[in-house]
Parts: sequence; structure tokens; C-alpha cells
Amino acid sequence: MKIKKVTVAGSGVLGSQIAFQIAFKEIPVSIYDINDEAIIRAKERITHLKDVYTEEIMQSEKEIEAVTKGVSLHTNLLPDLTEAFEKYTDDAWSKINQAIERISYYSSLSEAVEESDLVIEAIPEVVSIKQNFYKNLNQIAPQRTIFATNSSTLLPSLFSQDTGRPEKFLAFHFANEIWKHNTVEIMGHDGTSLEIIEEMYQFAKEIGMIPIRLNKEQPGYILNSILVPFLQSAQVLVMKGVSDSETIDKTWMLATGAPQGPFGILDIVGIQTAYNIIKNYADTSNNELYKKLSIMLKEEYLDKGKLGQESGEGFYKYPKPKYRQPGFLS
Ligand code: NAD
Repeated sequence: MKIKKVTVAGSGVLGSQIAFQIAFKEIPVSIYDINDEAIIRAKERITHLKDVYTEEIMQSEKEIEAVTKGVSLHTNLLPDLTEAFEKYTDDAWSKINQAIERISYYSSLSEAVEESDLVIEAIPEVVSIKQNFYKNLNQIAPQRTIFATNSSTLLPSLFSQDTGRPEKFLAFHFANEIWKHNTVEIMGHDGTSLEIIEEMYQFAKEIGMIPIRLNKEQPGYILNSILVPFLQSAQVLVMKGVSDSETIDKTWMLATGAPQGPFGILDIVGIQTAYNIIKNYADTSNNELYKKLSIMLKEEYLDKGKLGQESGEGFYKYPKPKYRQPGFLS
């Protein structure tokens, strides 16, 4: 089966990015979220992503110009580089404009999935929310529809029975800022059919991602098996009073040459998702450290509206994104 229509459920930080990237690659997308207010925010995020993609392409054009300037090729022997690049960038410009038109919005799940070949779930990292979602989704989605979870840390086997179609269910995990960090980790559970894994592997390539296939289930895949403990270690240092977030980021960046430190990354991920992950760990283990960390994130950040880069403040302060400013869509 060729995937011709996709539903993305949950239009937050990652869901909106996934939807835009798929639409950019010329596949129609339905966005589903819980109510009209969430749909308004989804539209704002998608409009903002159009700006992000526009800036990225403008930047690429500048870089191409710098590289091709002064390069003289025998155009009778080799293609004219500037012309070739212009063709690609013109194509990208028209795809950006058409992407917006390929996205439709629904607060009714049954309408959103009616004709979908694939549902990508990007709803909160909370087991009960995802379980209820899959039970409901199974009742209303066409039998042929593949379900994929973008969960950061939860295993697909946790939900496979709720989906009612374990053989057509797997994890398909994107990284944040997918236009530049374009990997997808593909991870089945024991009952996922190999055919579906292969199909999703091809689909990942079709939407401009680099597919990374895991051999077996692993909480956190490859990326988050490394990233989550890294981010948590940094938070523990602050909690124990060893140092502050800025000094920790500075140390990491200077000593390793990394472009961001752990707290800069946490602000991009979003404090809500970081909190959900730690809260799951705290609830499923007796680890006091996780409990303390989850309380710190809730009281010091979530309760104060400091949700990370998106809200204008997390561990650091940021200019408020344009789409968060009053009247952005009007
Ligand atoms: P988010 O909080 O930004 O967005 C969640 C969205 O889900 C919101 O739009 C919310 O309205 C919606 N929602 C809530 N309950 C719902 C329900 N019952 N049905 C449908 N929609 C519902 O979260 P996020 O950071 O985008 O994370 C979503 C998923 O993607 C999580 O599983 C997370 O682990 C995963 N993920 C996040 C990142 C990241 O960097 N933020 C990276 C990779 C994967």
C-alpha cells in the first residue's frame, strides 16, 4: 500500500512539525487535536513553521551563492551549478506555499482519520492518555490504517493491544526541529509485521527523513537512551546545588564544542514533555531523585508558565515567537 494520506494526532511541538514536513513533501495531512482552542494554536504553529522553512531556504540560498560565486565551470561539459541550484530552491519555494494548503484541521477524530492510510500519534507522553486514545482510534479508523507513535520513551508494546491491530502498529520517532535534524527511528514491538516496518522505512525516505531501524524494543530508542540520562544528570547538578544551568551549559559547550548545553536543549524540547518523562519514571520506580526532579520542574517552571523556548521563557529567556504575539493570525 502506498501512503497517500496521513493524520497527525496532537499538534504541539512535535505534531505540528511532523504535519508540516509531510505536507511539504506533497502528502495531504489532517491534523487532529482535542478542541477548537487547540486547533487555533495548531494553525498558529503551522503558520510559524512556514516562516521557519522560509528562513532555512533563504539561508541555504545564501550559502549556495557563496559557494558557487567565482566558480567557473565549462558549461559545455558540466551543468551550470547556479542554474541547477535555482531549480531546487524554486521547487522548495513552491512546496512551502502548497504545504499550508495540504493541511486540514479537525477536532473530531473520526473525521480526521476517515481516509487516512497512516495515523502518527504525537499526544502527551502520559500512558493513560495514549491508551485511551488508541482504544478509541481503533474503533473509528479504517482497518487498513497503520498507527505509529512518536513517543519519546514509551515502548510500543505498552499500547499494542489497545490499538486492536498490533501487526500494523510501531514507533516512528522524530527528533525535534525535524527540518534540520531529519532522523526517524523506526522500532516495532514483537508483533509488528515486517512488511509494515519496511513500508514505514520507505515512507520515512519519501518525506525527507533518514530512517534508522532498531533491531529490538528499547525505551528511548537510540537517541533518547543517551539524551534523557544526559539531560537528567544536568538537572540533578542544579538540584543538588552543585552549579547553575548557565555554568553547566557553558562547561559542556566549551569542553566538547557542542552547539548547545543540556538546558538549552531542554528549552527546545519543552519543559512539559521533559516533565512528563521524569514523572513517568518517578511513578514507575521508587527513585526519590526522579520524584524531586519532577516536583522541581512542576513548581519552578510549569506552574510559572515557563514552558521553554515556545513560551518565551524556560531555563533561559527568548523573544516571544511571532505566532505567540496578539493578532498574529488576524
Ligand atoms: P506537546 O505538549 O507540545 O503537544 C501535545 C499535543 O497533544 C497538544 O496539542 C495537546 O492539545 C494534544 N493532546 C492532548 N491530549 C490529547 C488527546 N487525548 N488526543 C489528541 N491530542 C491531545 O507535546 P510534544 O512535545 O509535541 O510531544 C508529543 C509526543 O511527541 C510525546 O509522546 C513526546 O514524548 C513526543 N516527542 C516529543 C519531542 C520533543 O522534543 N518535544 C521529540 C520527540 C518526540
